[in-house]
Amino acid sequence: MDLSPILPDHFQLIEHCVGENAIQISLLATQTVGRCPDCQRPANKVHSFYQRTLTDLPICGKSVSLRIHLRKFFCRNDQCARKIFAQTAPAYFSPYARRLNRAQQPLQTIALQTGARPAARICALIGQPVSHSTLLRISHRTPVQNQTTPTRLGVDDFAFRKGRRYGTILIDLDRHQPIDVLPDREGKTLEAWLREHPGIELVTRDRSSVYANAITTACPNAIQVADRWHLLANLSEVVERFLDTQRDTINQSILATLPATDISTTTLPLSEEQLPPSLTWHNDLSKLMVTTQVDCTSKSYERYQKVKQLQAEGHGIRAIARHLGFARNTVKRYWHQGFVPRQTPKRSNLYLYEGYLRKRWLEGQTNVKELLAELKAFGYNGSYTILANFLSAYPPLEVEPDLPPARKANSYSSRQIDRLLNQPPAKWSADEEAFLTHLLSEHESIRQVHDLSEQFRQLMKEKSAKGLAKWCEDAEKVSAYAGFVRGLRQDYGAVEQAFIS
Ligand SMILES: [Zn+2]
Repeated sequence: MDLSPILPDHFQLIEHCVGENAIQISLLATQTVGRCPDCQRPANKVHSFYQRTLTDLPICGKSVSLRIHLRKFFCRNDQCARKIFAQTAPAYFSPYARRLNRAQQPLQTIALQTGARPAARICALIGQPVSHSTLLRISHRTPVQNQTTPTRLGVDDFAFRKGRRYGTILIDLDRHQPIDVLPDREGKTLEAWLREHPGIELVTRDRSSVYANAITTACPNAIQVADRWHLLANLSEVVERFLDTQRDTINQSILATLPATDISTTTLPLSEEQLPPSLTWHNDLSKLMVTTQVDCTSKSYERYQKVKQLQAEGHGIRAIARHLGFARNTVKRYWHQGFVPRQTPKRSNLYLYEGYLRKRWLEGQTNVKELLAELKAFGYNGSYTILANFLSAYPPLEVEPDLPPARKANSYSSRQIDRLLNQPPAKWSADEEAFLTHLLSEHESIRQVHDLSEQFRQLMKEKSAKGLAKWCEDAEKVSAYAGFVRGLRQDYGAVEQAFIS
C-alpha cells in the first residue's frame, strides 16, 4: 500500500503496522539540511537522531500514531551561542506537541462547540481518544480573534457562582455573539471598558441603575434601551407576587373546578347529617395548631449567629453577604432583627379544606394518607397527625364503597398560573381552562392584574410607545403595579426605547 499521498511532505515511510485498534507508522525526515533557529545559518553536520511520537488523524476509526525520526545538527557558526539544534517541521507540528497540527484542529473545534467532557466522549468514539482535561487545555489555548468594537452592544450580568461572584457579559447585538466578559458587575469596570472602546451607538441593558449610570458617564450619546426580556421578567414578577397574596382565592377556584368524580352509579354510604357539625371559628381551633419549636442547632440559627457576629465586628450588609455567600436580603433581615429568629406556632389551614374533606368522606374516601396527599396538592400546610385527629370525629363507613378512583387534582403555583395566562387559551388543557376561566371570571382583582399584564405585552409587540404612557397611568391606580410603574418612570427613556427600537 502506498501511503505517501497521506503522509507529511519531506518524510519517508520506513514501516507501518496495522493493529486491531491502532495503526503505527514510522517515518524518517528526508531533509538533510537544517537551519539554526538562532543564527539562521544552514547546517548539514549531523549530531544524532532522535524520535518523536505524534498522533495523527484516525483512519477508519483506528487511531494513528507516527513515530518520526529526526536529526540533530551541529551549528558550525563560531559566533552563534547554540552548538546543537533539532530538526523541526513547523508546517506539521509545533515543538513539544503530542499531535500533528491537522489532528489538533478538529479537537479544538469539537471542544469549543460541545464542552470538554462531551468532546472527550465524541473523540473516543471516532478513534482519537483524548482526556477531557487535555481538551480543556486545548480550548484555553485557542487564540482570541481580534474583535472590532460593535456599534450596538448588549450588557448583562451573569453568575460565575450563584450568590457569590457575578460578572458582566458584553454581546455584539449585530453578530449575536459575546465579545467580552468583565470580572465583576460594578459600574466602574463597565465604564472603563466603554472608554477603551469608543464608537458605541446603542446599548441594551437590564434595569439596574449601576449599568445605566456607567453608560451615561462613559458614552453619553449612546441610546440606552431597557432590555425587553428583563422588562417582561419584571412584569411576571409583579403578577406572581400579586398571585402569592391571593392564595385563598386561587384555592377556592381550584376547589370549585375540581374534576367531578362519577358517583351517580353508587349509593353514598353516609349522609351529611351523620357527620359531626362543621368546624367554625367558635369551635376550638387549637387542635389545628402546627407547633414548631426554636431549634438552636438549626442551620438558619447558625447562619443568623454568623451574620450577627460580623455585624458586631462592624462589617456592612454587602460585605457580610459576599463573605458568607448569603443572599443580601437574608443578611438584611438578620441585620435588622435584634433577637433570635423565633418561629411562632402557626395555625394550620385545614379549615379551608373542610368542605372538600366532607365531600370526599361522603364519597367514601376515608384513607387519611390519601386524603393528606390530596389536600397537600391544594396547599394544606399541616401534618398527618392534625388531619388524623380531625378526622377521628368522623364516623367510620359501614360498607366498603365501590367508587371509581378519584382523579388527581391539580395544584398551581403562582408562576404556573402566570405562565398559563400568557399562553393562548387554545393551549390550555380542559382542567386548566375550567380553572383559569373560573379564576378570571370570579375574581375581579386577578382579572384586572392579568389584563394589564396582557396589555403591556401587546403594546411591546406593537412597538407602541404612545400606548405605554397611557398604560402607566392606568396601571398606577392598581396597587400591585405601583412599584413597577415607579421603576418604569425612573428609567423612562430606556424603557420607551424598548417600545420603539
Ligand atoms: Zn547557530
